[in-house]
Amino acid sequence: MQHVVVVGSGDGGTFTANLLAAELRDEIRGGLVSVHLIGEHLEHPFQPGNLDIAFKGAAPGSYVRDETELLRKGVDFIQDPAVRIDFRAKSVATRNGRTLSYDFLVIATGAVADPAKIPGLAEGSMNFHTGGKNARLIWDALQKFEGGTVVVAIAGTPHKCPPSPNEAAFMLDEFFRKRGIREKVKIRLLTPYPRPYPAEKISQVVGPMFEEKGIEVSTFFNVDSVDPKERKIYSLEGEASAYDMLIAIPPHHGADVIIDSGIGDEDGYVPTDKATMKVVGQEGVYCIGDATNIPVSKSGVVAHLQSVVVAHNIVAEIEKSKRFLSYNGRINCPMEVGHHRAIFVSATYTSPPADQSPSLVKYYMKRSFAMIYWRALNGSLEWMFDIFFGQTRFPVAEQDRPGKTVITLGASGGGVKRDG
Ligand SMILES: Cc1cc2nc3c(=O)[nH]c(=O)nc-3n(C[C@H](O)[C@H](O)[C@H](O)COP(=O)(O)OP(=O)(O)OC[C@H]3O[C@@H](n4cnc5c(N)ncnc54)[C@H](O)[C@@H]3O)c2cc1C
Repeated sequence: MQHVVVVGSGDGGTFTANLLAAELRDEIRGGLVSVHLIGEHLEHPFQPGNLDIAFKGAAPGSYVRDETELLRKGVDFIQDPAVRIDFRAKSVATRNGRTLSYDFLVIATGAVADPAKIPGLAEGSMNFHTGGKNARLIWDALQKFEGGTVVVAIAGTPHKCPPSPNEAAFMLDEFFRKRGIREKVKIRLLTPYPRPYPAEKISQVVGPMFEEKGIEVSTFFNVDSVDPKERKIYSLEGEASAYDMLIAIPPHHGADVIIDSGIGDEDGYVPTDKATMKVVGQEGVYCIGDATNIPVSKSGVVAHLQSVVVAHNIVAEIEKSKRFLSYNGRINCPMEVGHHRAIFVSATYTSPPADQSPSLVKYYMKRSFAMIYWRALNGSLEWMFDIFFGQTRFPVAEQDRPGKTVITLGASGGGVKRDG
């Protein structure tokens, strides 16, 4: 019997386990293969919903489902966090003392937003990157806010969802206009990047919109510390920005289990091949989504597209087929820009984000994703994704063909090596 162990039951892990259960249905029934999914929580959140919770007052519970309802038959869900991954022994140990041996391992443990990494940040700021309940605190505070300076600060990169700081600024502008107190509120975005959005073409779209809406942008602001008593945020460059309300995008790092197992880089992200999604130097071990060190945006779409490649390649290994696939770096991050308009930041490893106009259609496409997310996790909507995304995976041989150059682009919201 061959054992597949997936660690992390978020977006990528749940989807990968479901794809494997569908593809290997007969083998699982016949007792030839087992698929185990190790998770921390029974609740599965739709994380993009945090923006709606923080800035539109949605109820945190409306973006959460029970993990067991999202899984296909054939997936053995183990709600018992992994505490150690041992590549040599090919095993995963859990908090309650279980040890699972694997033939194939998928690491999908995501990224952790950690406000405690910056002095004063946890005490002095609110955020929508550490769950729906914390996002709700922003909404509650906005109801009582009568005027002053609201600062949105990017306090570390890479972070989940590169467009989310910009979205927050746009959504704040919309919120205060609707409340009729926009002229009493100064909105300021502090970014470590040299422009309003890391990718230049996207910056050219959102920069003028920020100006038009009276949203100030301070560039090259690398957050150093926060003084919650003085209500000031300081940069490494020696600047200070006063605030009445601080909404921060906290620094992120890899999951504790990656750090504790000594299998990550200095930030706890797993060194991963950006085409095959194999963990560097390991056979039968893959990594997907936010847990990787690949310089693409930390986003659900990326986790989803990588899952398809990894599930396919594991099935190919089990069935001893030689048709392996590789991921082409496709990203597609929606950015709401207020008043029912949105843009999509789309790119691949070889094509940077293109210029575009905000549109109503893109806004509704973004919003409809919140509805289809739950069904998409079981793999039944792949035909739709294939139409929308086009070809995002290639036979490995083709990808490796001489003359196919993989270029490294400029600064990124999901890293610092490429646009995103
Ligand atoms: C505010 C916000 C807005 C966003 N908007 C978008 C968007 O519009 N579009 C988009 O594509 N993406 C968006 N994202 C990003 C998206 O949610 C993530 O990139 C995506 O969830 C990554 O999937 P993942 O499987 O890699 O990680 P996750 O979905 O975070 O899952 C990781 C899982 O691993 C589990 N885990 C961690 N450690 C262990 C352990 N030791 N043992 C067992 N399990 C463990 C965690 O509990 C979690 O369930 C947004 C994120 C946020 C916060």
